[in-house]
Amino acid sequence: MTAAEDVPIEVSKLFDTILVLDFGSQYSHLITRRLREFNVYAEMLPCTQKIADLTWKPKGVILSGGPYSVYEDGSPHVDHDVFKLNVPILGICYGMQEIAWINGKGVARGDKREYGPATLNVKDKLCALFADVDHSQVWMSHGDKLHALPTGFNIVATSDNSPYAAVANEDESIYGIQFHPEVTHTTQGRTILKNFAVNICKASTNWTMENFIDTEIARIQKLVGPTAEVIGAVSGGVDSTVGAKIMKEAIGDRFHAIYVDNGVMRKNETEEVYKTLTEGLGINLTVVDASDLFLGRLKGITDPEKKRKIIGNTFIHVFEEEAAKIKPAHGQEIEYLLQGTLYPDVIESISFKGPSQTIKTHHNVGGLLDVMKLKLIEPLRELFKDEVRHLGELLGVPHDLVWRHPFPGPGLAIRVLGEVTPAQVKIAREADAIFIAEIKAAGLYKQISQAFAALLPVKSVGVMGDQRTYEQVIALRAIETVDFMTADWFVFEAAFLKRVASRIVNEVDGVARVTYDITSKPPATVEWE
Ligand code: GLN
Repeated sequence: MTAAEDVPIEVSKLFDTILVLDFGSQYSHLITRRLREFNVYAEMLPCTQKIADLTWKPKGVILSGGPYSVYEDGSPHVDHDVFKLNVPILGICYGMQEIAWINGKGVARGDKREYGPATLNVKDKLCALFADVDHSQVWMSHGDKLHALPTGFNIVATSDNSPYAAVANEDESIYGIQFHPEVTHTTQGRTILKNFAVNICKASTNWTMENFIDTEIARIQKLVGPTAEVIGAVSGGVDSTVGAKIMKEAIGDRFHAIYVDNGVMRKNETEEVYKTLTEGLGINLTVVDASDLFLGRLKGITDPEKKRKIIGNTFIHVFEEEAAKIKPAHGQEIEYLLQGTLYPDVIESISFKGPSQTIKTHHNVGGLLDVMKLKLIEPLRELFKDEVRHLGELLGVPHDLVWRHPFPGPGLAIRVLGEVTPAQVKIAREADAIFIAEIKAAGLYKQISQAFAALLPVKSVGVMGDQRTYEQVIALRAIETVDFMTADWFVFEAAFLKRVASRIVNEVDGVARVTYDITSKPPATVEWE
């Protein structure tokens, strides 16, 4: 049986789904997030989606905000067939202006832009969208506004600057709001979205990871069929571990995990990953120790981009060699490659304004698809990171692993600045282990988004036991961030930094000085290289 004959069931056919059509607002993905937070499944598609091409019927449609103006040439417009679906529609900001433009064209540039908080006055207390909502703060972000009521609509709420803060055609279940209910600054935004999805669209609130596990396992089994085999790279990170565990649950030992030790992993990492994945989670795992190969190829290389390329290419080469050694029990070739793609990657790649149509590749294995003629399997592609974590907990993945800080593919090679030698890796590895152990002991690990030690290739003079020393410098980095696009450095107490610095200088040979990195992103990046 091949996958082509055996089309997988779509999640949007298994759960009541609200369709979010994205007009390019920076908040669009938050609409999807908020709905899922109260257990309604939502999927986002570009605003250019042809309704006739949908293979499933949404329970309701939300038109997002966007940076364009509806009256401009070239601005994006929704497929008018959306109104023929006969399901409730909610337009947010640009989405509302789009509804108004279609129903009378009463949209123009406002006298002043409105950005920030405003107070909502609900005029029509019976409007289903505003059940339990009144006089609360809403968040505005627009320059255009409605200057006439769309045909067939009533005013249901106002604000000081927006006489049409919310409009509704309740006979047709079409609603428009000028403000953004998806941002937390709109204090009752969640209630408004829930009123729409649950009360108006009647979507069921059954999107839970408990329900997802069963449907996803059934989906994987159907897709892979009774005999095909799947391989995947695991790194010890949460996404690849949760992906591997769900594959194991679905097809047992027909899933083959490969972990490549590239010689630049953290302290005890390979042993810990092996133990957790095999003894703990029962995954069919091969560990390849390719440290010498990686470190040999990195010899003499100082340029960060070259280091990254060498590690990426060597990884593909090692993974391919190992995969070729796996002889599937049923005498068939391996057909699938597991990839831990998450929903934010999918959103980015389907965005109608985005240049790229290909999904970001993970763990540098993208090239394998062509070379090995493998098909992709992506069990996490509908999930946000916090949903993956929740799924991991339910599947019995250890708590520490589920909440682990991200670790980049090139590992310690980009935390050892300059040339990567075994001796330098050892210094960075020991210093990092002390820093992380102290963070955990202080109960700060979860508050911090990412923390590590970097070894700087400079020497500095010190004095130890009356002797002059001339040794290297460790830079500690710890950041807080929501999405890793921007980040700020974590404010430790002085006593904590003192303790870490003293332990590193005392316990790690080759380090005479410790500094703490107090740069935000931007202008700096999280990693040093
Ligand atoms: N571009 C439109 C405006 O300025 C819509 C803005 C938005 O959707 N946030 O009004």
